[in-house]
Amino acid sequence: MPELPEVETVRRGLERQTKGFEIAKVEVLRARAVAAPPTPEQFCSALEGAQVKGWMRRGKYLMAALQRGDEDAGHWGVHLRMTGQFLWMEEEKAPCNHTRVRIWNQEGQELRFVDLRSFGEMWWVPPQTPLESVMTGLKRLGPEPFSEAFDPAYLGAKLKGSSRPIKTALLDQALVAGVGNIYADESLFMSRIAPERRSGSLKPAELKRLHAALVEVLTTSIGVGGTTFSDFRDLKGTNGNYGNAAWVYRRTGEPCRICGTPIRRDKLGGRSSHWCPTCQGG
Ligand code: ZN
Repeated sequence: MPELPEVETVRRGLERQTKGFEIAKVEVLRARAVAAPPTPEQFCSALEGAQVKGWMRRGKYLMAALQRGDEDAGHWGVHLRMTGQFLWMEEEKAPCNHTRVRIWNQEGQELRFVDLRSFGEMWWVPPQTPLESVMTGLKRLGPEPFSEAFDPAYLGAKLKGSSRPIKTALLDQALVAGVGNIYADESLFMSRIAPERRSGSLKPAELKRLHAALVEVLTTSIGVGGTTFSDFRDLKGTNGNYGNAAWVYRRTGEPCRICGTPIRRDKLGGRSSHWCPTCQGG
């Protein structure tokens, strides 16, 4: 599943490839890929004739500002969910079975949205309309991990008194936007905190380490273009390579890179947690 670094990598790819893109034609091959407006036809006519001014990201949501002539033409929102991906087609190529949305410019180049599991969603948000009133998931998002609002004091205040395991808390998008299983496991290893620790029991020094580890692991991963082990691909079909450097994620049974103890995998809140029982304090 794409997490913040993968989505940020996609955003950068879209910004490079489609900034200034004039949308000539849109085809929706699967209606459920469009969450708003109600019909794919309305979505297509809202985008056709508009120009992409640039791409923003909030959590795992992507938003393109649209313009029609000199007029604001609203926003085009995208969430990749489990398996959504964009592909860039220089020339006409027949769509695969998992192609959901096709977007062409006048030159016949195509931005194609392919989604194996079909949970990915797109929205069109009309001009002068708050994004979160249409893309309602935005309302629930906590601060961006790279923002000033996200610091050890914020973490401490939010986790105070909580008996939830810290791993479960990190996956909650209301605590911090964009962190998923991979980076939660990696940052807990780096900060030497066991995944099942009760959130409210973390000491100030641990909160400081956890905050620093999250920022570091996300920054590193963005730098290398996302992870290899998710099925993530950027616009050119390239896989990132953070996976080669993972401390614990998907290394079950392999020796810890610090102490040699076999990495354990435990279920926690319905998700797999990978961790070192020695380094992360049993
Ligand atoms: Zn270890």
